[in-house]
Amino acid sequence: MATSNERLVQWLRDAHAMEEQAETMLSQTAQRLEHYPALKQRIEQHVEETRRQGERVAACLERLDGGSSSLKDAAAKMMGFGHAMSGLFAGDEVVKAALASYTFEHLEIASYRMLIATAEECGDVETRRVCEVNLAEEEAMAKWLEDNLEETTLAFLAREATPDTTAKH
Ligand code: MG
Ligand code: FE
Repeated sequence: MATSNERLVQWLRDAHAMEEQAETMLSQTAQRLEHYPALKQRIEQHVEETRRQGERVAACLERLDGGSSSLKDAAAKMMGFGHAMSGLFAGDEVVKAALASYTFEHLEIASYRMLIATAEECGDVETRRVCEVNLAEEEAMAKWLEDNLEETTLAFLAREATPDTTAKH
């Protein structure tokens, strides 16, 4: 049986690995997008936010356990690479990327909500604050993606219907 404090550390490690995976996925997607400038720009903005989120979580881990989470993160980075590669050769790559990003943001939202509850249970005010900052950025990104799902889809369909035009990214 683990204590609440042990779970807090474990789930912060998971969140750190999740952010590393997000950074890999999002930077790869942003690099490949050419014909969807609004989506590309918002993803690039979120790559920067994601780096800072990872640093904030790492600082919590450093404070709580001396920050010994390197092995797990390395594995997660590879996993992220696999995920990013999977949509790469699809003819509807941009649509798959929007779908994957929207899904991933909701994984992050759920993770930070669980961490906030756990931090509160442990009386860890700083971890709670950090998770609330990260949560707000994930919610903003999820909202932006949600508001742009239709536009991205229609832009893709329009480009695909136009001869001699690249639609996929
Ligand atoms: Mg994140
Ligand atoms: Fe995110």
